[in-house]
Amino acid sequence: MTTNHELLERRNNAVPRGVATATGVFAARAENAEVWDVEGKRYIDFAGGIAVLNTGHRHPKVMNAIQKQLERFTHPCFQVTPYEPYIALAEKLNRLAPCKGPNKTIFLTTGAEAIENAIKIARGATKRPAVISFVGGFHGRTLMTMALTGKVDPYKKGFGPFPGEVYHLPYPNRFHDVSAEDSLRALEFLFKADVEPSRVAAMLIEPVQGEGGFYIAPFEFLRELRKVCDRHGILLVADEIQCGFGRTGKMFAIEHAGVQADLVTMAKSLGGGMPLSAVTGRAEIMDAVEPGGLGGTYAGNPVACAAAIAVLEVFEEEKLLERSTKIGERVVRRMNELAATNRFPCIGEVRGLGGMVAIELVEDRTTKTPAAALTKRWATQSLKNGLILLTCGVYGNVARVLVPLTASDAIVEEGLKIMERSLEEALAA
Ligand code: PMP
Repeated sequence: MTTNHELLERRNNAVPRGVATATGVFAARAENAEVWDVEGKRYIDFAGGIAVLNTGHRHPKVMNAIQKQLERFTHPCFQVTPYEPYIALAEKLNRLAPCKGPNKTIFLTTGAEAIENAIKIARGATKRPAVISFVGGFHGRTLMTMALTGKVDPYKKGFGPFPGEVYHLPYPNRFHDVSAEDSLRALEFLFKADVEPSRVAAMLIEPVQGEGGFYIAPFEFLRELRKVCDRHGILLVADEIQCGFGRTGKMFAIEHAGVQADLVTMAKSLGGGMPLSAVTGRAEIMDAVEPGGLGGTYAGNPVACAAAIAVLEVFEEEKLLERSTKIGERVVRRMNELAATNRFPCIGEVRGLGGMVAIELVEDRTTKTPAAALTKRWATQSLKNGLILLTCGVYGNVARVLVPLTASDAIVEEGLKIMERSLEEALAA
């Protein structure tokens, strides 16, 4: 039998350490919200391939769509001999997207590529150079998306210089005392000190920050941003790569605020496990770029498009938006119960929007000093106890729950029990 240890040694010799892996557990097979490693040990999966598996590992309907597409063709290339699945999926997203419409959609392969293209489109449409993004935001690992990302270590450190004309604003953060008013005042200062609004092409925001720590933008703040954008002809771009596709109980997180974006980026759970990303937006903006200005050899792979169409059907058939809300309520309730006991004064805040739930750990509830080492131990203990649990946050002190929305109550409950036991063990260690 191949062991995790052997594979880890081979991995360390063959793969650069820059690609950090959250666990030393090597996957052998996976089904819905469970993963088995090469040694036969079973894990409950609260990571979902980092928010990719809202419909779970190997959903039968998605597998079936992939298999059917494999029998037809895998890569004629949309820019050479286009194909229907790309168009059918675009039509569906054009109807679903939280944009004013009529909409159009382009497909790419990764989240970073979707962001790159959204910026290209925004610049092409507005003929303006600057982009505003937020502290703590994560948008990818390419040069432009690194520039847009609002966290230096480890994403940007040593990789500059970055493309210019990117400005960061504080992201409202109730727990750490950054109010929506603070952020709006910073925007005012930015327009005074650094860039005039008429040079800004786009404002890019995650309605709920993912890697940054699952902070939820106040809905009123998003509505204010919309107003500022309208006032100055700036395009509002919602990065829904992590918080989209039902994770928050609505198809797109920005819908909670009743705000329409000009462009929306999607990836992760869109493809149900296949690499696929998209930019959807108002047709007049999307069409501003000349033919040949957008695309990519692999972009909008037909197998991935077929999978995504099946993902959308699963969402409807299995009522996954409602399920997301239910799962979120259960996780928040259970974690708040733990926080209310005197066993876990380390739980600083439990926050969630639908099934996008995080627990922020602190040394002390008054000072709110981040407890990063404890959070790491929590994830490590969880893994030992059979649960894959990811951390996030600018200070690495947040545990996040991204369990597939197709997981049964029994599986979610089992995972939550492991979280409780593991946090107890992490505190004792
Ligand atoms: N935007 C957000 C909000 C993300 O969470 C991520 C990935 N964590 C990205 C962009 C980049 O996606 P990818 O890793 O597929 O390039």
